[in-house]
Amino acid sequence: MSAIAENIIFLKKSLPASVRLVAVSKTKPVSDILSAYEAGQRLFGENRVQEILAKKDNLPGDIEWHLIGHLQTNKVKTILPYVSMIESVDTEKLLLAINSEAKKINRIIDCLLQIHIAAEESKFGFSADELTAILSPEKLSLLNNVRICGLMGMATFTDDSDQIRREFRNLSQCFNVLKNKYFAYSDFFSEKSMGMSGDYKIAIEEGSTIVRVGSLIFGERIKK
Ligand SMILES: *Cc1c(COP(=O)(O)O)cnc(C)c1O
Repeated sequence: MSAIAENIIFLKKSLPASVRLVAVSKTKPVSDILSAYEAGQRLFGENRVQEILAKKDNLPGDIEWHLIGHLQTNKVKTILPYVSMIESVDTEKLLLAINSEAKKINRIIDCLLQIHIAAEESKFGFSADELTAILSPEKLSLLNNVRICGLMGMATFTDDSDQIRREFRNLSQCFNVLKNKYFAYSDFFSEKSMGMSGDYKIAIEEGSTIVRVGSLIFGERIKK
């Protein structure tokens, strides 16, 4: 068995049943994705539209793609038919663009709103206040072709596990506030996508339902 397949099997065994694994295959070749597929993995994450488009035709049709990277509104139309979830919705403009393109192809697209929880400046995402504003019932009622399934966030890249834990806890608290305020009677607002190779264990302890793991499965990526 390949190392990639072994990593998948090990990870799946160690994750609670309530947590889904997104295998983050960005920069990795189709052959690596197939190794993970052969170990039973069907859910993959990519951060670039172009990469999903280039890889999908050379892979089995039952693979599910999550887009996890920044999406430009002008690329929404291209990628929508091929993704089962967009985890990285980081502006209201993007959410509206997804809704209107989804309407044209008669689909309802699962989305996560990306919340900025890290101390680092550069990461994309909404603040907690912005999320409250964007999720008003008036605005939500116009979004018939997106399903807002929860939140996604990335912790600061640091060795300080207390800080990482605080940041994930912050995401969970924000999730609870929004759930109570706007989604109390909705089943689909249920996802907290947090945790990567270095911090997924902490994320699970803080309530993650989706972990996005790349290098721990596929090996280190070559920095570009
Ligand atoms: C690359 C990436 C991951 C996976 O990172 P690893 O540290 O390799 O597990 C997870 N989430 C997002 C948004 C990413 O861009």
